[in-house]
Amino acid sequence: MSDKIKSFKLSKNIYSTARLHGSFEEIFKSAGYNLSFNTEERLLIKEEIISNARECDGIITLLADKIDREVIDSLKNCRIIANYAVGYNNIDVDYAYSKNIVVTNTPGILTEATAETALALMLACARRIAEGDKFMRAGKFTGWMPSLMLGTGLKGKTAGIIGAGRIGIAFGEMASALGMKILYSANSDKPEFEKKTGASRRQLRDLVKESDVISVHVPLNESTRHMISGEIIDLMKPGCIFINTARGEITDEKYLIGALRAGKIFSAGFDVYYGEPQVNPELYELENVVLLPHIGSATSETRAAMAKMASENIISYLETGRALNPVR
Ligand code: NAP
Repeated sequence: MSDKIKSFKLSKNIYSTARLHGSFEEIFKSAGYNLSFNTEERLLIKEEIISNARECDGIITLLADKIDREVIDSLKNCRIIANYAVGYNNIDVDYAYSKNIVVTNTPGILTEATAETALALMLACARRIAEGDKFMRAGKFTGWMPSLMLGTGLKGKTAGIIGAGRIGIAFGEMASALGMKILYSANSDKPEFEKKTGASRRQLRDLVKESDVISVHVPLNESTRHMISGEIIDLMKPGCIFINTARGEITDEKYLIGALRAGKIFSAGFDVYYGEPQVNPELYELENVVLLPHIGSATSETRAAMAKMASENIISYLETGRALNPVR
């Protein structure tokens, strides 16, 4: 390597708002970059991100970091924001691009992990797994009874997938393997998915009317915010199961809580919340919900692959001007 290139590389400063899983430190070190990161196991507040990332050439951000105009304006040297997530609704992407900062995400590698989480929530809701666990720990089990904690079977039931993209399709294939009929909504037809699973495309209103399980997999953007409105919730089949592993703001969560409380919806599984990390305390009072702490992609393998992808996006862009996974 020529000294010129080497010194160019050594001048690059990378900041990550968290310590990531896997080999991201080695990746930057072996490429000759100066990496610094938040070593504490907590999210940074905006002022800390601004202060810590001011001089960086590239930054790795978490989905919980709000990268708005103020943060972007403070990034004087930054040329790339590599979000450690497939969703990037936490970043003002238009503004970043207007400042010649490219934004990347981590598509594809967290598909199965997130679909498995949706599947786990569906099974937990249908068979009252979390409720059963609490019941046991409370010492309430006195023996097998014919009507103890009856759930609902899934074979032959209809799974409605809202957003048949990478994760929605993976979830649909898993649900199909359980013997479920598959409906989906998307912007466009998915002929291969239809061929593989017998899935049929529906408009949202028809999908929710026909589905026994509804699982949300659209990205959060202006076309999907509050997509699952009160009106759509009213159209859902009585006794259905609702799963959200996408983003909290896609649903009218308050209205959904009312429908769960009234027993109109049998059960709901949440990995994501409206106004996260705040969680509506009413959810804690409901027996018929399963609550996860946004762990859709949380497997060791997936998180290591996400760290690698985010790091490689930065290195590729700073060295060649080509980002591997630009969001546009
Ligand atoms: P993707 O491949 O881009 O799929 C998104 C799907 O949504 C596409 O099929 C798209 O349809 C559809 N869609 C978009 N807008 C729509 C609308 N208005 N109406 C109906 N369908 C619409 O994304 P992905 O990789 O599957 O990820 C989906 C989302 O999951 C992410 O954006 C993220 O928010 C969330 N996620 C959560 C976790 C977690 O930890 N819980 C982990 C990973 C991802 P077309 O294909 O026809 O355009």
